[in-house]
Amino acid sequence: MSIGVDQVPQSAIAVYSGGMDSTVMLYAMREQGVDIRDALSIDYGQKHRKELEAAAEVCALLGIEHQVADLRAMAGLFGSCGLVDAQTEVPEGHYEEDSMKQTVVPNRNMILISVATAWAITKKVDAVAYAAHSGDHAIYPDCREVFADALDRAIQLCDWSAVRLYRPFVNVSKAEIAREGVRLGAPLEKTWSCYKGGALHCGKCGTCIERREAFHLSGQVDRTKYAADAPTVETLLKSDWRLPE
Ligand SMILES: [Zn+2]
Repeated sequence: MSIGVDQVPQSAIAVYSGGMDSTVMLYAMREQGVDIRDALSIDYGQKHRKELEAAAEVCALLGIEHQVADLRAMAGLFGSCGLVDAQTEVPEGHYEEDSMKQTVVPNRNMILISVATAWAITKKVDAVAYAAHSGDHAIYPDCREVFADALDRAIQLCDWSAVRLYRPFVNVSKAEIAREGVRLGAPLEKTWSCYKGGALHCGKCGTCIERREAFHLSGQVDRTKYAADAPTVETLLKSDWRLPE
């Protein structure tokens, strides 16, 4: 069968981070009747375990098998990326600021999708699903549609069974994802976005601000608990979602 951006696969392995976007993708795929054989998280040496813990919790709720591929030995290949390198701080501020380039894990999506494709071939499913969205493009080149198209072509050619790349959100904004998540009853408050590994979301790193802006733009209530020193949405709105000086 042919699966493009708009064509829903019958069965898939989902690349699953435990964040909001991939959680909404799981709930959307479940509603569409996709046989989600596994949700696959990759441990690439992230500084904290919060995403992986959130992923396990949501998979248990959905009754989906959760697999974690342990690629921690690769962390040394990712240079001074702030998400894996203990010496580099996680930047605070808006997600389109230049400092956020410190959060790029080099070639992350190709690595994740490549590992998931091996698993998809083994499990004999139609597709690998990943939840890159349109707002990711400014900072993360491996979230662009042109990259997804190229990788879709590549993974079809890597084996005699043609696995496709299902990327339902590649042209969808995070605000639309938030709205869809609420409609689907996805437990968004259990998902983890923050690049820091505190007890609560910090509310001021790039991905926290993106999450808060998405809820605000979608008109949905954000039930995420943020740290006590996080700026309020009203403060962020006044400064165009930049951190106040
Ligand atoms: Zn944060």
